[in-house]
Amino acid sequence: MKVTEDRMSVSIAAPEVNTWSLAIHGGAGTIDRAKLTPENEKLYRDGMKAALAAGEAVLSKGGSALDAVEAAVWVLEDDPMFNAGRGAVFTAEGQCDLDAAIMDGAMGRAGAVAGIRRTKSPVSLARAVMERSKHVFLMGVGAEAFSVEQGLEQVEPEYFHTDKRWQQYLKWKQGIILSEIDPEHRFGTVGAVALDQAGHLAAATSTGGLTGKLWGRIGDSPVIGAGTMAKDGVCAVSCTGTGEYFIIESAGRQICDRIQWNHEDVQSAADNTLSAIGRIGGDGGLIAMGGDGTVAFSLNTAGMYRACVSSNTAAKTWIFANEAGE
Ligand code: ASP
Repeated sequence: MKVTEDRMSVSIAAPEVNTWSLAIHGGAGTIDRAKLTPENEKLYRDGMKAALAAGEAVLSKGGSALDAVEAAVWVLEDDPMFNAGRGAVFTAEGQCDLDAAIMDGAMGRAGAVAGIRRTKSPVSLARAVMERSKHVFLMGVGAEAFSVEQGLEQVEPEYFHTDKRWQQYLKWKQGIILSEIDPEHRFGTVGAVALDQAGHLAAATSTGGLTGKLWGRIGDSPVIGAGTMAKDGVCAVSCTGTGEYFIIESAGRQICDRIQWNHEDVQSAADNTLSAIGRIGGDGGLIAMGGDGTVAFSLNTAGMYRACVSSNTAAKTWIFANEAGE
């Protein structure tokens, strides 16, 4: 696939290699190989494979990248192993405040929500904002009111609670550093990027944010151009990590700009952006997909739950920074 630029336009050729492609992540962090039990490792890998299967079912039949990223994120939001939807971390006040975003690279449209407490699927609410409102970003009670108005499934806040996260929260309240008590501690967030058979890209991200977040804090995940970004023919990105730094470096936008204007390949653009984030103190990881469906993973932590599949490659999952994948 070639992206040719003149002063004002980008022309998009059909993908030469992948007719469709999908990558997902389930958060990055200090994932200690020695302490991750085989049972939990299997649960993470199975969860990622289920998300890939949901997205693949859409893409292989010629469905849209937008539907595929939403379908993959649904699975991860429902899976209590991941910090998004059910299984989200707790705020300083002991609540689950959920953030999500989705972006359609075909139309340059996006939707995002923050501080969600009752909508079962925050990513679907983000999509409703994109498709059924005049706005891009809704928060808190207003976003919840829109969600009810749109008929999205509502749940009691307790639906999102899991005992594992509650115990982490109690430890956090005692001042214990989470990475010391939880060998799987990570910047949980889930995300997906996809290329469909029509050559369109999309990205989606959903998260509970960081344990103990204060004062209505919002991370990078729902910030378009930071934690989530998609632009046809250029790239689609979903990030995880210390969101403040990803916002400051405009992570998603930076990767796209490096590819489009600096002619970097997708892996270099991802790595260079993460280096910039690292230089100012941020850590985490990201998934990026080039306009031809090429997948790039980049992380500066010990691990990141990540996986991909495409029309010409079998599904594969990775957890640790250095592993062959399985
Ligand atoms: N990036 C997310 C945030 O800052 C957290 C994460 O990835 O775990 O809210």
